[in-house]
Amino acid sequence: MYWESYSYKQIKERVFSSLKQNLDYRERAVLGLPASYLDTEVFYDDAPFLKDAPFLSALIANPNHIGCHTLNESEAAFEGTHKIEKELIDLCAQQVFEGGSEEFDGYVASGGTEANIQAIWILKRYFETEFGAKNGEISLIFSEDSHYSMPKASKLLGLDSLITKVDYKTRRVTRESLTECCNAAMGNGVKHFIVVMNMSTTMFGSVDDINEITGWLDGLGVEYRVHVDAAFGGYIYPFSTSDSSYTFQNRRINSFTLDGHKMLQSPYGTGIYLTRKNYMQYALTEEANYVKGKDYTLIGSRSGANAIAVWMIMRTYGSDGWTAKVRRLLGMTSRLCDSLTDRGVKYFRNPEMNIIAIEGRYLSKKIADKYLLIPDSHDGNVNWWKIVIMDHVKQGVIDNFLNDLDAEMKK
Ligand SMILES: *Cc1c(COP(=O)(O)O)cnc(C)c1O
Repeated sequence: MYWESYSYKQIKERVFSSLKQNLDYRERAVLGLPASYLDTEVFYDDAPFLKDAPFLSALIANPNHIGCHTLNESEAAFEGTHKIEKELIDLCAQQVFEGGSEEFDGYVASGGTEANIQAIWILKRYFETEFGAKNGEISLIFSEDSHYSMPKASKLLGLDSLITKVDYKTRRVTRESLTECCNAAMGNGVKHFIVVMNMSTTMFGSVDDINEITGWLDGLGVEYRVHVDAAFGGYIYPFSTSDSSYTFQNRRINSFTLDGHKMLQSPYGTGIYLTRKNYMQYALTEEANYVKGKDYTLIGSRSGANAIAVWMIMRTYGSDGWTAKVRRLLGMTSRLCDSLTDRGVKYFRNPEMNIIAIEGRYLSKKIADKYLLIPDSHDGNVNWWKIVIMDHVKQGVIDNFLNDLDAEMKK
């Protein structure tokens, strides 16, 4: 994995030159486009600081990134910034997920939820188109630790959910539950399975053992396709592991969801959907006649500034800078884990992730509330309290937390 880090000057030049290649509503005679720059009463474009602020300038220019820019010719009015989005998708697919020189498709979605729904929609259409699969012949498999966008997708797309159980301590999917789910579904006439694997769950930072699970599925002889939900882990795990199971090198993986607005700290509206070539087509909306290049996405109109923000962050760090940041956060996480172990506090932690889930009985609600820890459930019994080590988490705050914990344990 490698991508170069750019200086602020390089970033500015690239973004401003891309904006220049876009249509300028002030210069061209524009009568037909139902779009314009941001309202100038409120967002005046002659504010002096804007010449040094590429992201804000992009917001104000307001390019529309409707459609998918890795596929075909797209709306010429915003070609300049569409190219930045294409470069971003390539960086993610070829570098973060080690796709090498292969080509991929994808786009910047509203979030991880949309990217997951897009992925499941595409695989559903794939089974319908290629296998003539009918209602009730396709099911969605995911674990009980999966994000709630999976049940959302299943309801929206009319797919049955098969929810596999995980071991309470290790958070690993159990073979018995997977086997049971698949056998029962096949008994009910299900022929095709859309399988979602977590490359880090939200609550635990647990990563599904993809080789083991696909091995079980192969053994059951079921027809399946795999989507990876890396909304949370996508900007951490690939940088902390040498394991290549969760990359495009693994032919079993069809697509990934990746969220810029989680670990990368980009603005909300920066989910990323990535897929192997020849799958995006299953989401084609032929009727999108007024969009040049048609539409292959769930969302429709969307801000080009979002893609630029993610691209800017990835280009500012470069792969080396980002890896160093991930290492620093994981170091802090390990240090806190050691302190918990010293105190005999039990927790779950994946050593390659920055999440610690502390067993509920070791913490009072008072401490949890004071430090805004997240419970595994907001109604009633708390089994786990979650800590996520992010950029804003400082060692001093962790030390205070441990002091409070010590005081409580003494009592
Ligand atoms: C946050 C998250 C999502 C959903 O992302 P949104 O950007 O909130 O839509 C999906 N999956 C996982 C694992 C997540 O952590």
